[in-house]
Order: sequence, then C-alpha cells, then structure tokens
Amino acid sequence: MSIPTVSFHDGNTIPQLGYGVFLVPPEDTERAVSEALEVGYRHIDTAAIYRNEKGVGAAIAASGIPRDELFVTTKLWNNRQSGDQPHAAIDESLQKLGLEYVDLYLIHWPAPARANYVNAWEKLVAIREAGQARSIGVSNFLVPHLEEIIAATGVTPVANQIELHPAYQRRDLTDWADAHDVRIESWGPLGQGKYDLFGIPAIADAAGAHGVSPAQVVLRWHLQHGFIVFPKSVRRERLEENIDVFGFELTEAEIAAIDGLDRPDGRVGSTADEVN
Ligand code: NAD
Repeated sequence: MSIPTVSFHDGNTIPQLGYGVFLVPPEDTERAVSEALEVGYRHIDTAAIYRNEKGVGAAIAASGIPRDELFVTTKLWNNRQSGDQPHAAIDESLQKLGLEYVDLYLIHWPAPARANYVNAWEKLVAIREAGQARSIGVSNFLVPHLEEIIAATGVTPVANQIELHPAYQRRDLTDWADAHDVRIESWGPLGQGKYDLFGIPAIADAAGAHGVSPAQVVLRWHLQHGFIVFPKSVRRERLEENIDVFGFELTEAEIAAIDGLDRPDGRVGSTADEVN
C-alpha cells in the first residue's frame, strides 16, 4: 500500500492519509493502532486529551516499524497553553508515546477566552528548535488567530487541522491556507457519522459509478482537494476500506457535485469560541 505524501513549507512531508484515534478508548488503543499498522497505516493522529497516547506508543513499540517510517501527531490541550506549561506537556506526551520526538505538534484549540495561544505558539517554536517536534502547527484556528500568531513570531504553522467534510467546507480557511502555504487537515472527514452523508445522491452515485463505498468517495474527495485525512474506525474491515482509496479517481464533475454540498449549517462539532 503506497500512500502519497504532502509537503509542508518547512521541508518535511506527511502521509496524506492516516489513522485518527479520537474516542478510541485507552484500553482498546494498542489493539486498534496495532491493527491499523498491520493494515498499512503509517500516520497516527492522537492528542493529550484523548488519553490514549500510551496505547499508541505501545502499538508503535510492538510493531518494530522503524521510527522514520512513522508519522505521529499529538496536540497540546487548552489547559497547558500558559507560561512554560507547553514544555511540560510535550515532555509528558513524549514519555507516554515512548518517543523522542513527534512529527507534528499542534495547538489543539485557540481557546480564546484563555488568551494564551500566542504564548503557546512561541513555546511550540522552541519545542521544534529543541527537536521534540519535527513540525509545528495548529488546530481549529480561524483566520484572525492565525494572523495573530504569525505577526507575533514570524513563524507560520505548517498545518491547520479543522472540521471539514462535504456539508462544511470552510472555504474562508482553505483559501487562506492556500495563500499562505499552510496544509489543511480535515477532522471529522466523514462528518463523524452525524448526518446521512452516504445517502446524498452526489456521493452515492459516484460510489456506484466507481464500484466503491460512499465513505471511499468522501475520502477521495478530500484527497483530490489536497487535504490530509485520518478517518477513525475500530473495525478492521473499515480500516481496510478507508485506506483502499488510491485505485480510483473522481471526475471533475463528481468533485464539483460534492463541492456543491457545502451548507452554512453543516457543522457537526464545536466552534473555536466555544472550546476553552
Ligand atoms: P470521522 O469523520 O472520521 O468519523 C468517524 C466515524 O465514522 C466512526 O466512528 C465510524 O462510525 C464512521 N466510519 C469510519 N469509517 C467508516 C466507513 N468506512 N464506513 C462507514 N462509516 C465509517 O470523525 P472523527 O473520528 O471525529 O475524525 C477523525 C480524526 O480527526 C479523529 O480520530 C481525530 O484524530 C481527529 N479529530 C480532531 C479534532 C480536533 O479538534 N483537532 C476533533 C475531532 C477529531
């Protein structure tokens, strides 16, 4: 299974498709990640707040896969953004993961009510310089947050990980990212199963035309837009299905039909203001 990579502006690369472990219970994580690694995933997306970094680390250690063939992302939680807390937080994450560095460290949310995200970004720059993260980025940042951290530090995040799926396409953020050479990572790429994405004719019809599942069509739509995805499942057949998306290509008309599904009320998660 050969998974394409996407380049960051700092010269590093990321496998465009990975495995996300939000809501994978800590006690199931080692098994789920081991299965994902067996199936061929090499990019794992976790976070301190998911409380399953230990399981991710255990699966990596047991796999025997060389470190440089893996891409591991974790995230700084909101209550560790102030003062020197980000340094303590990355030390703890690395210890749980059993790693000397992560490939990508993200500020999980801007948490504007705390007013600490500029400090957190300054600390992530230092964490990268210390070699504890190869690349640094953000998650759930809106344009004003992005512009503020860049103005304060001169350092542009390599990626912004945001809720993005056919009903919620965030064109303000994707346009800004394109203009600033920032990669978009789509979280909830399948809408977290919270609306009937797979029954929408534009998606179901494309699935029929290519002899693939609706989930595969949606993942392919993200990939053809250049977005990075890491769909979550704890079922092996779905892990296999979700990585088997490199043997077909959506037509321009099929992409355009899915582009047309964007809705003002398509959001399934929280807004950047709500999470503090
Ligand atoms: P998702 O869109 O990947 O949806 C996951 C759900 O879709 C699963 O629980 C499963 O029920 C269903 N599913 C998966 N594969 C399927 C298939 N082939 N067919 C049918 N149904 C299928 O949502 P997610 O897990 O929230 O997002 C993916 C990853 O994004 C997370 O695991 C996490 O790593 C990351 N994430 C980040 C943030 C953030 O704030 N940065 C927030 C949420 C998620």
